[in-house]
Amino acid sequence: MDEFKVTPWDVEGMVDYAKLIEEFGTSPMTDELLEKTAELTRSELPMYFRRRFFFSHRDYDKVLADYESGKGFFLYTGRGPSGPMHIGHIIPFFATKWLQEKFGVNLYIQITDDEKFLFKDKLTFEDTKRWAYDNILDIIAVGFDPDKTFIFQDSEFTKIYEMAIPIAKKINYSMAKAVFGFTEQSKIGMIFYPAIQAAPTFFERKRCLIPAAIDQDPYWRLQRDFAESLGYYKTAAIHSKFVPGLMGLEGKMSASKPETAVYLTDDPEEAGKKIWKYALTGGRATAKEQREKGGQPEKCVVFKWFEIFFEPDDEKLMERYHACKSGELLCGQCKRELIERVQEFLKEHQKKRKEAEKKVEKFKYTGEL
Ligand code: SF4
Repeated sequence: MDEFKVTPWDVEGMVDYAKLIEEFGTSPMTDELLEKTAELTRSELPMYFRRRFFFSHRDYDKVLADYESGKGFFLYTGRGPSGPMHIGHIIPFFATKWLQEKFGVNLYIQITDDEKFLFKDKLTFEDTKRWAYDNILDIIAVGFDPDKTFIFQDSEFTKIYEMAIPIAKKINYSMAKAVFGFTEQSKIGMIFYPAIQAAPTFFERKRCLIPAAIDQDPYWRLQRDFAESLGYYKTAAIHSKFVPGLMGLEGKMSASKPETAVYLTDDPEEAGKKIWKYALTGGRATAKEQREKGGQPEKCVVFKWFEIFFEPDDEKLMERYHACKSGELLCGQCKRELIERVQEFLKEHQKKRKEAEKKVEKFKYTGEL
């Protein structure tokens, strides 16, 4: 089995998600939970859930039970603003939007400009604040309900400090070290930071549900150790898989390797060229061989991108799979079709991003509902 590594800062190798569930001690997302979600929301599930992009959870069953009993819940997610957002960053926000819309709940979005400054040596505080504004535009462009969505930037929303203090008193150094692997060289700000990140899980006296990629789970594991002793719920979470970069299915799309990512602000033409040049396919060496043997969609980034986001129709996805396997579909055509979808998405997103400039104030969380 291939070696892999998943931490909040680093994802490497071909991730074995079943093994990760065991290692992290989470629970697999089940048919039963998804059926319950569809029943309670009276909706057809979106592809992120149908196709198990969200593959794991903690206490999601309790979230659904709270909703059903009328206690309700709220959503919390975030973004570390260290650069421009790419397609891999935004997909979980679309899933979060679906949950907010269907359950009609409040959503808090934390922009961790302080964290990125502390953890990234090369970034100045000014850089992370600038990226915070830039990333907020992308998030608003997803189309969240302004009356139920509250976006805050740690450096501006200073009330969070007050909430982090009782939390900081509950976490000792060895607990934090066990989860995050801090060393003698770790900055003291980094060691305090988990208290800030846990604070929004206490924004309401309801259970909090965090939709996020599984690499963020260590933060919530820590929260679950002390939440009840402060009179709050252990946070619940649903965990997504990673969106692979263009050059391979290993690891995740990385902002530090620009040729592997499609950024939300990329010029659509340039994005198309990048996909054409770099996207790894499961194609054979020659068109002749591919017609004879068929392609390998299970090894193909192009197919993965269709599966994760760019082909919402299950039947059409299966048709593509079989057309590839039978050798009827060749990679050039398939890539061109993906490029068209990506370009359409970028054009639409960029239009909404422009409109978002006028909406920033509307989404700003001040601590009052
Ligand atoms: Fe991938 Fe499409 Fe080529 Fe099949 S035809 S290997 S799905 S790019």
